[in-house]
Amino acid sequence: MRATRALVYVDRFRLNIRAVAARIGRRRICVPVKADAYGHGALPLARAALEAGADCLAVALVQEGEELRQGGVRAPILLFSQTLGEELEDLVRADLCPLVWEGAYIDALGEAALRAGRELVVHLKLDTGMGRAGCPPEEAAALAGRVLSHRALRLGGVATHLAVSDSPSPEDRAYTGAQLGRFRAAIQAIRDAGIDPGIIHAANSGALCFHPDAWFDMVRPGILLYGYGPPGAAPNDTAPGGDSARSDTLRPPAIPVRPVMELHSQVAAVKLIRRGESVSYGRTWTAPEDSLAALVPAGYADGLRRGLSNNWQMGIGGRLYPVAGRICMDQCLLNLGRPGSGPPVSPGEEVVIFGEGAGPAAGSIAAAPGDAAAMAEKLGTIPYEITCGISKRVPRVYL
Ligand SMILES: *Cc1c(COP(=O)(O)O)cnc(C)c1O
Repeated sequence: MRATRALVYVDRFRLNIRAVAARIGRRRICVPVKADAYGHGALPLARAALEAGADCLAVALVQEGEELRQGGVRAPILLFSQTLGEELEDLVRADLCPLVWEGAYIDALGEAALRAGRELVVHLKLDTGMGRAGCPPEEAAALAGRVLSHRALRLGGVATHLAVSDSPSPEDRAYTGAQLGRFRAAIQAIRDAGIDPGIIHAANSGALCFHPDAWFDMVRPGILLYGYGPPGAAPNDTAPGGDSARSDTLRPPAIPVRPVMELHSQVAAVKLIRRGESVSYGRTWTAPEDSLAALVPAGYADGLRRGLSNNWQMGIGGRLYPVAGRICMDQCLLNLGRPGSGPPVSPGEEVVIFGEGAGPAAGSIAAAPGDAAAMAEKLGTIPYEITCGISKRVPRVYL
């Protein structure tokens, strides 16, 4: 196996799920494993989720659902997106549970299920203010009726998605409140039409952390289960005993989660850079003194983003070393400092690119390079983009 690999701590994932379960009482948990489980590997994490007590899974693409079925997953799988044309047959065959919000689509699905001789459970998706997918709340009752008009379809639930549930600002909290108000009214309209809405769900990670009134019958947290607080939350808001500096009195009790993925590599070579010599493309780093550099076989084609050039530190043996010069497609360099100024570093030694690591000083904050959220912050993005961006050529190792 190549030296650069993503370590996926499946146990942490199970513990994160149990931590959420402990928080939400007797509600169901839907675990999103879309985008290859946020880059962690869909099938192993789907299995782990079900072992940890998840009630169902969710994917974004029919293909993602088919891969889970081929892997032997039999639990319900929600399909977050509406699909087109021939994919309808595929989703019926894979027995996925699609979110639906258009009359014509409901009809096409009802006919496809009938042709296949299958009963298909669907959930109605309402757009209460996300401005993306979903029907206007006023149409919910009529569309629920349309689902029931098909012999082969069953209404299993009603859902919506929240746009700013992770934000603690009063305006955003009010916006979420308004979304939930529209959602509740639409559900009431469905009930008033004599239709059982089934499982009601709205909460992503942000709502799980900040809006208990959005938990309804089932929650769908993604990033939280992979170990990160929702993007708008302060870093410690979900950590054990997390003590936010914010004076946000609405902050709910913390949910203890730990990052599931770590990116590791190994030192490929150690070389001497003479004072005044430069390394890598563009000559953006010049040795201020005779220095040792470690060559690390990881680059932007692995998902180690080029924006981290001269802008990140990695851990070797429990110490941190800065990235020197540009990150290339397949390699980068670390500045180990003046020869003899620190412990010797040898080829083959473990490099922690992000994560807590397991070096001698593991657990010591100073020696950990930072997790995917810290890396995301350096890049002006969110941890989702970091873990999803670890490319296919990086093997996942399940621990
Ligand atoms: C991705 C997604 C989620 C999970 O979102 P997180 O921010 O990762 O918690 C929930 N619901 C829908 C519809 C999604 O697309």
